[in-house]
Parts: sequence; structure tokens; C-alpha cells
Amino acid sequence: MGDMGSDGGSGRRPLTSTERALLDSLLDHEFDGVSELREQALRVTASTGCECGCVTIDLHVPEDAPVSAAAGPVPLEGTVVDAAGEVIGGVQVFLADGRLAGLEVHSLDEPVPVVPSPELVSWESWADPPADDRPSFWQRLRSRSA
Ligand SMILES: [Zn+2]
Repeated sequence: MGDMGSDGGSGRRPLTSTERALLDSLLDHEFDGVSELREQALRVTASTGCECGCVTIDLHVPEDAPVSAAAGPVPLEGTVVDAAGEVIGGVQVFLADGRLAGLEVHSLDEPVPVVPSPELVSWESWADPPADDRPSFWQRLRSRSA
């Protein structure tokens, strides 16, 4: 617990309880490959996923964890509301080669200051897989981890 640097020195840490609750609430849904993702989630660690100061994190799964057949990103997207019920942003979980790879929290206006608790996020399945209008985070992730 809390010993940074034992995993390559890249600042990996356990998920916060809120991050874990949010991930768990997503993985409560049924979709192809979710069972392996649930197993990965038990052992996943996090590191800062973005330099802009937002709460997006990269996710890291041990190499011996089961690999999911799900294609990335996960086919659900979360809508984030504030305490007053106003929509303030969204949540997306990215996969890389069947492994949890990133938890992105994006905002409509002001950056979402903290990872939202599951009560503030409503998950929706995509009727259709996303086209190429949202690959920015994904491409950045791939190019950096290559
Ligand atoms: Zn950011």
C-alpha cells in the first residue's frame, strides 16, 4: 500500500475508493468480455493519465490477468451530473489489447474537479460503436505506451 516506485517508478498507485466504485459500477453491466475485465479490476493500478490537471487516469493490469475479448473502448459511456443534477461531463473507460487501459473523465465546461462517485454517473450503452469522432485519447494512449 502506498509504496510508489515498486512497479517501474511510473507513479502507479492503487485506485482510490471512488475510482474503484466508479469502475465497479461500469463493470456491473453485461457486455462481451466483461467477466475478464472484472477480474482485471481486482488488481488494476492507476497513474496520472493526463497532464492538464483533470482526473483522467491510466489503468495498468498485471500481465498474468485474464485478457478480455472486448474491443476498446468499453461500449458504455457515463454521463456525469453535479449535485444539482446538471450535466457537467462524461466518463469513458478505454481498453488496450483486452486490458483496462484508461479511465477518462471529460468535462463540458469547467474541468470535473474530482472523480465522480457512481451516484453522479449514469451509464448508457452505445447503440452503435463509436465512429472515428472520439479517438483522441485512445491514440494518445497508444502512442505513448508503444
Ligand atoms: Zn486532462
